[in-house]
Amino acid sequence: MTRKILVTSALPYANGSIHLGHLVEYIQTDIWVRFQKMQGHRCHYVCADDTHGTPIMLRAQKEGITPEELIAKVWHEHYSDFQGFHIGFDNYYSTNTPETRHYADDIYLKLKEQGLIEVRAIEQFYDPVKEMFLPDRFIKGECPKCHAKDQYGDSCEACGAAYQPTDLIEPFSAVSGATPVKKQSDHYFFKLSDEKCRNFLKEWIKPPHVQAEAANKLNEWLESGLSDWDISRDAPYFGFEIPDAPGKFYYVWLDAPIGYMGSFKNLCDKQGLNFDEYWGKDSTAEVYHFIGKDILYFHALFWPAELEYADYRTPSGVFAHGFLTVNGQKMSKSRGTFITASSYLKHLNPEHLRYYFAAKLGATIEDIDLSLEDFTARVNSDLVGKFVNIASRCAGFLSKSFDGKVGPMESAYVERITPILKVGSAEDLGNNLAMGGLNSTFREAGKEIAALYEAREYGKALRKIMELADLANQFIDEQKPWVLAKDPAQQNRLHMVCSTGLEMFRLLTLYLKPVLPEVAKSVETFLNVPELKWADIHAALPEGHRINAYQHLMTRIDSKQVEAMTEANKESLAPQPEQQSQARHAEHQQHQAAKQPPPGAGEEAKVGAIAPLCTIDDFAKIDLRIARIANAEHVEGAEKLLKLTLDIGEAQPRTVFAGIKSAYDPALLKGRMTVMVANLAPRKMKFGMSEGMVLAASGEAPGLFILSPDDGAQPGMRVK
Ligand SMILES: [Zn+2]
Repeated sequence: MTRKILVTSALPYANGSIHLGHLVEYIQTDIWVRFQKMQGHRCHYVCADDTHGTPIMLRAQKEGITPEELIAKVWHEHYSDFQGFHIGFDNYYSTNTPETRHYADDIYLKLKEQGLIEVRAIEQFYDPVKEMFLPDRFIKGECPKCHAKDQYGDSCEACGAAYQPTDLIEPFSAVSGATPVKKQSDHYFFKLSDEKCRNFLKEWIKPPHVQAEAANKLNEWLESGLSDWDISRDAPYFGFEIPDAPGKFYYVWLDAPIGYMGSFKNLCDKQGLNFDEYWGKDSTAEVYHFIGKDILYFHALFWPAELEYADYRTPSGVFAHGFLTVNGQKMSKSRGTFITASSYLKHLNPEHLRYYFAAKLGATIEDIDLSLEDFTARVNSDLVGKFVNIASRCAGFLSKSFDGKVGPMESAYVERITPILKVGSAEDLGNNLAMGGLNSTFREAGKEIAALYEAREYGKALRKIMELADLANQFIDEQKPWVLAKDPAQQNRLHMVCSTGLEMFRLLTLYLKPVLPEVAKSVETFLNVPELKWADIHAALPEGHRINAYQHLMTRIDSKQVEAMTEANKESLAPQPEQQSQARHAEHQQHQAAKQPPPGAGEEAKVGAIAPLCTIDDFAKIDLRIARIANAEHVEGAEKLLKLTLDIGEAQPRTVFAGIKSAYDPALLKGRMTVMVANLAPRKMKFGMSEGMVLAASGEAPGLFILSPDDGAQPGMRVK
């Protein structure tokens, strides 16, 4: 049955460049969409730039252009980056469009009818010079907790505390430098706390709407009580004015995600599709949102409730993914691992990154790591060494000795190879033998591979495909076409071996096509076949079919290219607004966090007595080293301890048991840098040997805080 599917990725904000962190999501989505299209389903992939808000307005002013000029410029940059990575949007649009405005107004007015919009006066910081209300990020001042200067209005980069901008000491406007004043203004709220939203969501936030692990998190949020969402901002603002509220503009919640609908409506108008078939209340189509885990709250709570009560259908599924780390750490400008899309494209092949991300991606919200060394090794070994190698080993003989014409397939191969993978029934085997000796192993695997793509288990799909590539290479190694070619009596055998090899290569290409669309195109030309679809598993290169001359398909990665790329990113990067957030609606996390006062906030600091003096020589006896937390896990039976595996650049990592279980989720520690005492005498503990100690701060106030060095510190560096 042909499915009707609408797919979106989160909208990137028109205030910064696309980087490799963003690309995890677009590549993940694109692979899924390409797979669905190969299956013959009617699948539409839409996205747009998220274009509204104060940061856009202020940046345009700074550059002396209009916001419209700014967003047009950024749109072209984003679009060209996405094309560079073969992201096959059916429509890439903008939120600053009549379609998005239409649906924003429609949803707003329907929610209002439902009694879900409420007006409340709130007090906010106002810049008296610039005559505008200030978003949290545009207010700076002294941290109320640790007294670090020049901190943002929502959280402190020095101590990590989260607070309200009104808590800052000596606040100033980052726009004009003026001292902000508190001013009241009416704001519009969506009443997510309303009983009917709660009841609806309680039923809705379950698989398959969300992943099981996400459902747990969402239920926690639901149980702790949902708050109403501020959906308006005051003029001056770049966005859509609320129809019955002059001087008030829709804030991100009632504007950006509606861009999914705006972009799709635009596609409908271009292609004659019926919008209501996809978004209408009784739509039978499927709608999926691929998002980063940072905007889960918004996409799985606010958005479905908003759609439900505005009389639209709700999503079939919200698929969240984790963040990207590079070499086990947060992307960093100082290390050159904060890599922009355009910079990557100057140095490396986009399909290599597509392959590597796919190999790392599963259906969970776990973070994925781009280890640049592993990336080089894996691409060279899998794609060049295994996959492309099959074609280059077979094609030459076919062109040279057989006029490029495909011969009969190796039937004996089927019998030999099928038992190895234990797939394919005797009946299949018989059928395939009857079809001219095509091997069932390769075709049979197609079902499993398709199921894995469908379930977004790309890593598992690629492992399966590479197992098949190994079998193909093993077959060629054993048959030795280069030996057969020298023996005139073995020409028929040579023809069979090379034809079978190419048929296996055709099937591998088909399986890899969602991940490697451009390579697949080149292979289609080389094999002289129409665009490969999933159903072509059941076809085969017919005897007598003429292929084209083999063209070089892919080059190995030289580690020098990778080095050049990280070097270039060290030099050239301008400050970026956000490191990880895919989209602007990530802002809400900060707002959420700010609602709960950080531990110890508002208390007077109580400093315990300082220890007796020690000399510099005493201090030098303690060898403190930067350590990378390679792994962190719970210890069975231990109440307070976590087991840490610490890399300080030695041949073997160290094991340290640390009493920090109450304060840290081990999953969040992995990949972090910290400081350890490296020459502390090893201590035998109940659970094993502890080979050092990590440093953590604690005091009267609750909480335990491990240390982190600044960006750039490497494992093994001495701290003194
Ligand atoms: Zn602070």
